[in-house]
Amino acid sequence: MFTSLGVISCYARNRVRRFLVASRARMASSTGLLHSATPPRVPTKHEKCYDPHDPTLKFVDKEDDLDFLYEGFKSLRAQMSCGHAVTPTSLTNWCRRLLDQGESRFVCGGSGCNVEWTFAEVFKMALLTPQENAHFRRTMAFNAARQTHTTKMCPGCGSTVTRENESDLNVLCKKCTAVKGQLFEFCWQCLREWKGAQPRKDRCGNRGCCNQSLETLNKCPNITFDSVKVCPSVRACPTCGLLLEHSKKYCKSVHCPRCNVTFCFVCLKSSSTCLITRCIPAPRQTSIPVWQKK
Ligand SMILES: [Zn+2]
Ligand SMILES: [Zn+2]
Ligand SMILES: [Zn+2]
Ligand SMILES: [Zn+2]
Ligand SMILES: [Zn+2]
Repeated sequence: MFTSLGVISCYARNRVRRFLVASRARMASSTGLLHSATPPRVPTKHEKCYDPHDPTLKFVDKEDDLDFLYEGFKSLRAQMSCGHAVTPTSLTNWCRRLLDQGESRFVCGGSGCNVEWTFAEVFKMALLTPQENAHFRRTMAFNAARQTHTTKMCPGCGSTVTRENESDLNVLCKKCTAVKGQLFEFCWQCLREWKGAQPRKDRCGNRGCCNQSLETLNKCPNITFDSVKVCPSVRACPTCGLLLEHSKKYCKSVHCPRCNVTFCFVCLKSSSTCLITRCIPAPRQTSIPVWQKK
């Protein structure tokens, strides 16, 4: 009786692990970014434990559903919104693993469970330290930015398509091609069925196809700082590429809400570098920087 139960739960765990390995391999082959995007894993040296008197937690007398490596965490088990039992450290390790694999959302790893937790729930239940919190938030933002950069929805079938060649706007949907029995290509930029010659980097043959972000960077009005320094009112963040419009109030140093980096709107160097070098207005940007993990 015990043996067969043990085998079942062991099998379920192996399945979860295999799924992770498979998705890791998929990611590596589809984006080629795995190594640059994966921060070194920081092992949780000291186990975090729940306060047994915390009235906001629901403690349960169950196995730790996220202890995939049988580390046997000592903390009391608490119940997540999906019903699975976790300890702060097993939850932290599981979520860190998801982030390491390029995910930007937290889905329960309990067997047969696909419930997505909010970050607020993870933050509370994993007892995230300030360092872990900062790392999680930054990696979530980075992964989400990467996902919107490398995948889009096919206008023909709505499935997620990954672009293989970043310098060609012409993208083939394999699913539509198989269903329709003829080549289905769409434009990565205007998301309409492809028109005209290819490969193209700037636009397809559809009317009005243009890169809105580059258009904005090119055409936005100028603003003036310190009564002499003139620069465009919209800049792409030099670190992550997010378009930011200056409020014209306060100083030329701006903080990017996505990547958390502070830079000078005039010279586009980091604010600390700008302070110690000559601040020369950088020309209008003609490409959007792609966020690279350091
Ligand atoms: Zn669950
Ligand atoms: Zn399609
Ligand atoms: Zn187009
Ligand atoms: Zn940024
Ligand atoms: Zn500057």
